Amino acid sequence: MKDDFKPARRQFLMTGGAAIAMIPVVAFTGNALAATNPGMRASMKYQDTPSGDKDCTNCLQFVPGKTPKDLGGCKIFLGDTEVAPKGYCTAWVAIPKK
Ligand code: SF4
Repeated sequence: MKDDFKPARRQFLMTGGAAIAMIPVVAFTGNALAATNPGMRASMKYQDTPSGDKDCTNCLQFVPGKTPKDLGGCKIFLGDTEVAPKGYCTAWVAIPKK
């Protein structure tokens, strides 16, 4: 049986196949980037709920997400992208009044 695939065509198909195989990886990468910092969360006793009127939205360390309800980050929780706006931890610091 004759092999119809020429090297360039074979290489193109292999590269295309690899590119197609990468699509799910790229699609999931967005979620894979979301991460927590378990060590800091534990040491600062982080919780997803406020403590009285103290929560992440009125903390100096909070880095808001795209919208006010989206998860955000925290300046002291390095790499953590899942800090709840209504979360709280013992490192809470009031935003200075202007
Ligand atoms: S220090 Fe604590 S309360 Fe302040 S934003 Fe970070 S996790 Fe929220």
